[in-house]
Amino acid sequence: MQPAAPAPLQDRLRAAQPCLWTNPGRQAEVPPRLSVGTAAVGVEDMQAAAARFGRFAGLLAALFPQELQASGGVIESPLVPAPALGQALGLDADAGALWVKCDHLLPVAGSIKARGGIHEVLEFAEQLALQHGLVAPGGDYRALAQPEARALLGRYQVAVGSTGNLGLSIGVAASALGFRAAVHMSADAKEWKKERLRRRGVEVVEHAGDYEQAVAAGRAQAASDPFCHFVDDERSLSLLQGYSASAPALQRQLAAAGIAVDEQHPLFVYLPCGVGGAPAGITFGLRQVLGPHVHCFFAEPVQSPCFLVQMLAGAHDNPSVYDWGLTNQTEADGLAVPRASLLAASLMHPLLSGIYTVQDATLFQHLALAHDTEGLRIEPSAAAGFSGPGMLTSTPEGRAWLQAQGLEVHLPRATHLAWTTGGLFVPEAEYDCFLQRGREATSPG
Ligand SMILES: *Cc1c(COP(=O)(O)O)cnc(C)c1O
Repeated sequence: MQPAAPAPLQDRLRAAQPCLWTNPGRQAEVPPRLSVGTAAVGVEDMQAAAARFGRFAGLLAALFPQELQASGGVIESPLVPAPALGQALGLDADAGALWVKCDHLLPVAGSIKARGGIHEVLEFAEQLALQHGLVAPGGDYRALAQPEARALLGRYQVAVGSTGNLGLSIGVAASALGFRAAVHMSADAKEWKKERLRRRGVEVVEHAGDYEQAVAAGRAQAASDPFCHFVDDERSLSLLQGYSASAPALQRQLAAAGIAVDEQHPLFVYLPCGVGGAPAGITFGLRQVLGPHVHCFFAEPVQSPCFLVQMLAGAHDNPSVYDWGLTNQTEADGLAVPRASLLAASLMHPLLSGIYTVQDATLFQHLALAHDTEGLRIEPSAAAGFSGPGMLTSTPEGRAWLQAQGLEVHLPRATHLAWTTGGLFVPEAEYDCFLQRGREATSPG
């Protein structure tokens, strides 16, 4: 008997070595309705989320005057070129230009969770407000800042399970609207994130287990309380929808920056992935507005590649990274998730271009490079996107895929967009440690 053919991808995955998977199921044309679990979504769901943010802008500006007055209540982040970082990462000019979508600067939440998390809190508030006549359809939502409205919302609780950032976003938004808020935190959640929430009167419930266990505990507690809305990171359509609303905004930013996205000008987007909701929502939105020439790649820590093991497993299985002998131990706390969202995975089958994994040491190196070349101040999870251009343009797997897709000839005019997903509220001392760790890893010896 011949030994079985080697499976280099599976071997590297199991050995916690960086690897690249490309999606054979990706379709160039986006079907009008896409299945997500047992439901279906289309472009109108993305538009509905964008419209909801619009209806709440006045109220958000009133609730967060310091952070949102200037933008009129719009929660958005800049799109910036990063040529020096591109060069430092080894991206040659003939392999495309590096840009950064700076969600590490998103106000209110300080991370990408401002998109999905705040959207779900707004949707819940809107539903209650309409039901109880606190606002009229199409009316001025600033009425929700009045004491009577806040008193009504205060009868309800919003709860969530989180490794940190989702809890921050939900806790801050919910308490600002007058809701009671409870955040179930996993063991890997950073102390400063818990502190920040407690200072805002949010109840922080600490769990000894991982992210999955924190979510399960929160879900169980909420199920017994009719006045509690549980934001379910593994099952929520509202979260996905909120993330997708970033797509029309990015489309406008790309146009304003003079960046074309077409056959001659492919756009590669690199998205740090935890449970998959944020990157899947964004990918869904981008494929709707930009079409076949945007290629989205998810980035995961080598010890927590839950989305990759899910895509390898298929729809009827929901494996964890522990099943692959991996530890789920990573300093990228926003990505420390053992099992992917099935909702997100089903949505990504026809849309996603691929997934790659990154070592923690590389995250810190890139965190430091981003600081030293472009002055970007990000958290470790948010650095995962910076390995993307190298994975695609300088590995045999990446080159082979580019060639097979007919993309190699267009590389000189390509745009590589790394999505930096968090960092704004990282305390100074904590950030200095990250930076030092990254510089030590980079310096010779
Ligand atoms: C949550 C998070 C992600 C990934 O989002 P998921 O929905 O969990 O996939 C990426 N980066 C940061 C900083 C995060 O907090």
